Amino acid sequence: MSDVVFRRKVLLCLQNLKMFTQIVIARPKKHFHFCRQMKSYKRRWWYALLFMKCPKCHHGNLFNDPNPYHLEHITDMPQRCAVCGQIYFPEVGFYWGAMYISYGLTVLFSAINVGLLWLLFGFNMWLLIIGNAILLLAGMPLFYRYSRAIWLMFFVSFDQETFERTRKNSAS
Ligand SMILES: [Zn+2]
Repeated sequence: MSDVVFRRKVLLCLQNLKMFTQIVIARPKKHFHFCRQMKSYKRRWWYALLFMKCPKCHHGNLFNDPNPYHLEHITDMPQRCAVCGQIYFPEVGFYWGAMYISYGLTVLFSAINVGLLWLLFGFNMWLLIIGNAILLLAGMPLFYRYSRAIWLMFFVSFDQETFERTRKNSAS
């Protein structure tokens, strides 16, 4: 191997190494930045809804298992918020009303699905029906949980004082 070729190879290696380290170093930084930015929105109602947090303090989790696709734990909710103590079950059968929300979400999602499928594949009745059914089935665990979160949010409002007080306890 001539000297020039060897030097060029070493240079290429170094460049690759530099690129690799840049990617590896840059990614967690970006991720960290994203997390920090999201945390700055913590007092917004949509933050609590999106991450299924307690509507009063925005810190405690509404569900024991954060992943809605672990179907065996989909209904598991604590009785109270672990952070601020807000009751999640104000009365027996409280979440029956969440069915209306679930119905609304399903209709809205169906409309979006049908619109998108129509745009992508053109009008085909069976494709629209079956495609929408599959997407609805896939989204079911999310609808179930979001409808409960929205329903509880109607009755429990955000409390600034509780939010500030519990912030230190749940800094994680
Ligand atoms: Zn709470």
